[in-house]
Amino acid sequence: MPETPSVTSEIGAIAESVERRFLNGRRVLAFSEYLDLFAGDPVRFARDASVYLRDCFDHYGSTSKEEPWGTFTRWNLFDLPWDPRQAPHALIGQEQVQEEIYRSISNFVREGRPNRLILLHGPNGSAKSTIVACMMRGLEHYSTLDGGALYRFNWVFPSSKTLRGSLGFNQKEQGSQVGTYAHLPDDQIDAKLLVEVRDHPLFLVPVDERRKLLERMRKDKEVASPSEYFCDWILRGELSHKSQQVFEALLASYNGSYTEVLKHVQVERYFISQRYRVGAVTIGPQMTVDAGERQITMDRSLASLPASLQAITLYEAKGELVDAAGGVLEFSDLLKRPLDAFKYLQLTVETGEVSLGAQNVQLNCVMTGSANELHLDAFREHPEFASFRGRMELIRTPYLRSFVHEQRIYDTHVLPHIRRHVAPHATTMAAQFAVLSRMRKPNTEKYPRALSTALAELTAVEKLDLYATGAAPERLEPEAQKVLRAGVRAVFEESDSYPIYEGRIGASPREISVVMFDAAQATAYACLSPLAVLDEIEQLCTRKGEFEWLQQDAQVGGYHDVKLFRETLFSRLLGMWEQELYASSGLVADAQYDELFEKYVQHVSVWTKKERIRNSHTGDYQEPDEAMMREVERLLDVKGDAHEARKTLISGIAAWAIDHPGQKVEGRIVFPNFLRRLRDAIFGDKRADIAKQARDIVVLVRDGGAGLDTNRRASVREVLAQLASRFAYCDNCSADMASMLVRKRYSDLIVH
Ligand SMILES: [Zn+2]
Repeated sequence: MPETPSVTSEIGAIAESVERRFLNGRRVLAFSEYLDLFAGDPVRFARDASVYLRDCFDHYGSTSKEEPWGTFTRWNLFDLPWDPRQAPHALIGQEQVQEEIYRSISNFVREGRPNRLILLHGPNGSAKSTIVACMMRGLEHYSTLDGGALYRFNWVFPSSKTLRGSLGFNQKEQGSQVGTYAHLPDDQIDAKLLVEVRDHPLFLVPVDERRKLLERMRKDKEVASPSEYFCDWILRGELSHKSQQVFEALLASYNGSYTEVLKHVQVERYFISQRYRVGAVTIGPQMTVDAGERQITMDRSLASLPASLQAITLYEAKGELVDAAGGVLEFSDLLKRPLDAFKYLQLTVETGEVSLGAQNVQLNCVMTGSANELHLDAFREHPEFASFRGRMELIRTPYLRSFVHEQRIYDTHVLPHIRRHVAPHATTMAAQFAVLSRMRKPNTEKYPRALSTALAELTAVEKLDLYATGAAPERLEPEAQKVLRAGVRAVFEESDSYPIYEGRIGASPREISVVMFDAAQATAYACLSPLAVLDEIEQLCTRKGEFEWLQQDAQVGGYHDVKLFRETLFSRLLGMWEQELYASSGLVADAQYDELFEKYVQHVSVWTKKERIRNSHTGDYQEPDEAMMREVERLLDVKGDAHEARKTLISGIAAWAIDHPGQKVEGRIVFPNFLRRLRDAIFGDKRADIAKQARDIVVLVRDGGAGLDTNRRASVREVLAQLASRFAYCDNCSADMASMLVRKRYSDLIVH
């Protein structure tokens, strides 16, 4: 029997690795040790919060993201890539917002300090707090890495016994041999004063000398001028009030010996932590006190301070502004507070300081905030707004307008909490409805003529698809489709400058998530059914008084027409179901119409060139197969002159090849619509068979197959297996789907 290691030995192993990590992390340093470390990479160790945050973005890097409305930079930190368990908290979409935030932070870096508050504004539920939370998580992880190591310092006071031991008989000479008290074990330390403001250890060097020191390090490292590389904070920052008092008291007691004072400095690595409110702090709207101070009471540890220190009154700064030092501070729902509660921010952001009773505290954090549009609208009307405006970076954070992105919200955040089987298309219905409710009718006057014409009759549903996949409506001429595809970005950005921009009004992901949870309780279905989602959406739409998006007048093209949205989604659902049932039916193999279409294109191509085609079996040259071409044309429902249609097809291929140099010409890629029409036509011929299959699925799943013979059962089982493996249906949602298709699409074919 293998021996299991005892718990004691396991603890021993854990202890060792903890100790190793601790020592490797170089958590505690004497001032001189820190200075050596600093000199090794002055630029890195001199970072203020904005440089640090910018470097954190850079550390995780970025990815270029192609969307139908343009190519954007996605900052990887928003994917929380360092820990798969955090994946559910990642940000979905919002690349433009990421780009704007990075631009603002880079500006702070250039300007030497974070001199504006980044205010994310948008409708409720547009991921504003998720964005800041990702940045905070990024900082947390970055601070655990070597490249992200952060340092603060404490004041330590050895016990008198220790002092006697080290200072010994010849106080003056012996004392100076003890380089530092930083590494003394706890039992030899009487008191430790934390510097809650997290002063940079270099603040212990007076400003003038510090500049010279940095200048020298800069020369050693051949970096550019100090002001280009060093932020305001490190160049001009001063010790906080408490540290300054301790510093002066010690200096006095050592008769001006700076070296002796520095022995009391214990530099310590620290880590950003939301949980412990270190460098990552969120202030809710109900809290009004963001910083304050308190007098340190004479507790036991203070009583053991040197006599020179006991005579002075120490004030300790406290509050969220102080806790956020070194990182990011978030004012959640900033404008929900009365103006008086955040008025001080105007000056604070401008000066980088907050004034408390006995002291001014220098702030070193990037301030962010969130606000919903209604509060921002009201704030814009306020007389104080104009002066605030210059101290804020306003970044618009709209709802998502691609249903592909929106669907990922529900797939990521809702589905893990659903205990039922989730039927195919359930989240698609939810996402498409949410995005449809946000669509605005384009203002065609804003565009050049060709685009304006292509946009003239664009419906809300067509806009939905245009944003999601870049696909232009098939009803348009090929040239107009091309113009529209090239114009997606212009259309996407059309309303950016409008007060009511696209993505401001519409169903919020929170409301639609509730819809999904309610739909998952529906008693009519065993699964989370797309039909239940549509039912719940219908319920939601009755609450007109509660939602601005239900109060808008419907416009031509179906904009804001929620009833039409539901009807359209339902008919799209039937269409998708039908396609999946076709594909699973085994009546025609997928490859069959694919092949047929390729063969058709090949023969037409030879036919237009008046050539002959080589039979791959016999090697003989033959005329193109006229009968086959006619059959395909019948299926494609080609009207008018077939010869003309063939020539159009071939010139279409030529045009496609010019637009897609180097790509293989395949019929199904060049003419996806033809292929779908071909498939529909082939299945159109088999509608009666499909209808019977749909009915038998219902009979087998719901009635135990009453009346079906063994062969029939087996073949229906096979269809169900295909639906499961190819499209993730279970028997229940297959039956829901089949039963609805029988009612809505095949009622003419089913004899009851
Ligand atoms: Zn199911």
